[in-house]
Amino acid sequence: MKIKEILGQGKPTLSFEIFPPKTEDKYESVEQAASEIAKLKPAFMSVTYGAGGGTSQYTVDIASGVYHNYNVTALAHLTCVSSTKEKVRQVLKELKEAGIENVLALRGDIPQDGPIATDYRYASELIRDIKKAGDFCIGAACYPEGHVESVSKTIDMDYLKQKVEAGCDFVTTQMFFDNNILYNYLYRIREKGVTVPVVAGIMPVTNVKQIARICQLSGTYLPSRFKAILDRFGDNPAAMKQAGIAYATEQIIDLIANGVDAIHVYSLNKPDIALKIKENLSEIL
Ligand code: FAD
Repeated sequence: MKIKEILGQGKPTLSFEIFPPKTEDKYESVEQAASEIAKLKPAFMSVTYGAGGGTSQYTVDIASGVYHNYNVTALAHLTCVSSTKEKVRQVLKELKEAGIENVLALRGDIPQDGPIATDYRYASELIRDIKKAGDFCIGAACYPEGHVESVSKTIDMDYLKQKVEAGCDFVTTQMFFDNNILYNYLYRIREKGVTVPVVAGIMPVTNVKQIARICQLSGTYLPSRFKAILDRFGDNPAAMKQAGIAYATEQIIDLIANGVDAIHVYSLNKPDIALKIKENLSEIL
């Protein structure tokens, strides 16, 4: 099923994310995590794409397994900055053959020593190629706090509009820990004429090291309420996990209460976290 149809049903949706292994010896454990999460019957599951594209086959295979073995709609990520047009054509062909109808089109982070290939500069160029390649439902990334490389949030929104005009059907946000940031962003992009569904990306933070790295990479704002949780429970993994899941749950409930129905949980290959969040929302979804 196409994700734009799922999002158009006018009811809250909960989706989860899996990232593929970097090496073959980890494949089985990731596949196992994917299958446990798929058994929770999320609205869809996304499978990320390794920067550089060297593990693209794992993305296709895991997405295909989720769809064929569990009948869960799969969303395969695809990045372009380190890719050639030929490689993109090949991956899209594999996705089509596997029956995957949904692609999240991304530029990817530029490697420290510069892009490996020069066929693509921005995600909008990839979106145009996917659009030409067949009947895919196309998603893209958006950044309520602005993309780290962006000179201004206003310019960032102009480029978001370009992605939508290129053919993207929905956008998924970078994680955020203060819902007001999303509400302001939604107001501003709607004013700009971006009307596609916005899927809110929620990260249940369960360890402090993880969040330090994420914030360094993405410049995500940490509200003081959230920092207090990190300070108090950061060195107690079990307590941190419980608090991180509770915080994410509260964020989700507030979003749904305010009409943001599409929720994507960055579940990081952790079925226990996905399960807990689903249980916490059992009467809400
Ligand atoms: P773009 O939309 O191309 O934007 C990149 C930068 O270029 C922005 O600063 C933008 O403002 C600017 N820009 C855009 N168009 C133009 C233009 N025409 N002229 C000048 N500047 C322009 N990474 C992975 O490697 N694998 C994944 O699976 C993955 N999944 C992700 C999922 C989500 C929901 C999100 C939010 C991010 C994900 N990422 C992933 C990270 C993402 O690849 C990086 O954030 C990357 O730096 C930007 O990708 P993008 O698609 O947003 O790029």
